[in-house]
Amino acid sequence: MSDFSNLQKKMYALARERSLFEQAKAYAYDYMDEVYERNVFPTEEALAGLSVFDEPLSDAPGDPAAMLRLLHEAGSPATVTTTGGRYFGFVTGGVFPPVMAAKWLTDVWDAASMLYVISPVLAKLETVCEKWLVELFDLPEETAAGFVSGSSVATLCGLAAGRYELLKRAGWDVNSNGLFGAPPIRVVIGAEAHSTVFKALSLLGLGRERVEKIPVDDQGRMTAAAVPALDSNTLVILQAGNVNSGSFDPLDEICERARKAGAWVHVDGAFGLWAAASRSRRHLTAGAEKADSWAVDGHKTLNTPYDSGIVLCKHRAALISAMQATGSYILYSEQRDGMLYTPEMSRRGRAVELWATLKVLGKSGIEELVDNLCERTRQFAEQMRAQGFKILNDVVFNQALVACDTPEQTAGTLQRLQQSGECWCGAGNWHDTPVIRVSVCSWATTPEDIDRTVAAFMKAREATLSRPGQVV
Ligand SMILES: *Cc1c(COP(=O)(O)O)cnc(C)c1O
Repeated sequence: MSDFSNLQKKMYALARERSLFEQAKAYAYDYMDEVYERNVFPTEEALAGLSVFDEPLSDAPGDPAAMLRLLHEAGSPATVTTTGGRYFGFVTGGVFPPVMAAKWLTDVWDAASMLYVISPVLAKLETVCEKWLVELFDLPEETAAGFVSGSSVATLCGLAAGRYELLKRAGWDVNSNGLFGAPPIRVVIGAEAHSTVFKALSLLGLGRERVEKIPVDDQGRMTAAAVPALDSNTLVILQAGNVNSGSFDPLDEICERARKAGAWVHVDGAFGLWAAASRSRRHLTAGAEKADSWAVDGHKTLNTPYDSGIVLCKHRAALISAMQATGSYILYSEQRDGMLYTPEMSRRGRAVELWATLKVLGKSGIEELVDNLCERTRQFAEQMRAQGFKILNDVVFNQALVACDTPEQTAGTLQRLQQSGECWCGAGNWHDTPVIRVSVCSWATTPEDIDRTVAAFMKAREATLSRPGQVV
């Protein structure tokens, strides 16, 4: 029989002697030295190098230093530098260096934020973040926050709370009895709601097709006049920030109507709700405070590390009931017990990084962050137009949709752009036109980064025009 105590002794020694941690720090410094300058997408060589991970699980314990070296030597070059200033794919976000430092420190806590008694400090930081966010977004004072992995789950929670509450008001306990035989719930949703919202609807048994889809205008905004009569059996799902155009639904008008009808309004504000934190963009989210629940990400506009989404719900009891966390050994305290507000029980302490980001930025720093993302997007759109590219959306926030003269030119330009390593943007389809999606999300993006990006677009288009059809 093998003796685990040898391994234990070795692990205790590693914690004490610290060399492995010093090595990790050195590797991380090397990475940070390069990350803001190196090619945004990994080179072919780096990608090929990933094959070293294809090995059988070893029979015996491995060498810790070799494990760390492998991770750095093969792993670090194969990252996409989303933390730099020239990554514009999807809707992402960088990380502020002081927050990375806070994350390093708290990684060694390995704390779980389920109950106060398992981590008082995380319970405290969640309470503080809840208060700060409610204030930043100007939401009703009683609003509760649950700290989840992202907006996908935040929307799932918000809609679960809405489903629970609407049915409770109709005299039906959905937790006990499910949806079979329940009074029907109507779902009113914009035709361009995010795919994760439809996912949440299907997970909740509300059906992704069984919805009243409201047509949108040329910017992807719900047409308020097309919203049917609402009633107290209706979940209305609005969007603050269209994932392509960055546009905002007419929140105020629809929220007013929903409120009068007794409907539940959920706002998917994954990246756009942050407009509320900026005086010059606040008009975009006007009326959002009249909703019942909201989903927002830390890891996009706010630039927290990944794994940071927040569900906000005006009806604390409804959210807690919908998450229905119970168990004979779970004794709730007078303090905050985070699992009351989330689907998960064990959960990493993601509120630490949210708190750290809010703390180092403060209200004015958050406002400047949001404004800079919007300004850099506007700079990009203006310079691109001046170079003869088409910008297909009204640039109201941090999203720009680029097209060349023909779909072939757009595709060729994007392909060469991605291969250039100068920046990274993704493909998309905007109202049947192939586009290059540009989402400015990182604090690190400077005016010079935009200049470089526009130059890279021009070079990629030039190469496409001079060698049409040729794949590089
Ligand atoms: C990103 C995004 C989501 C999904 O959020 P995750 O954090 O990736 O789960 C939902 N809605 C919109 C509008 C988004 O941009």
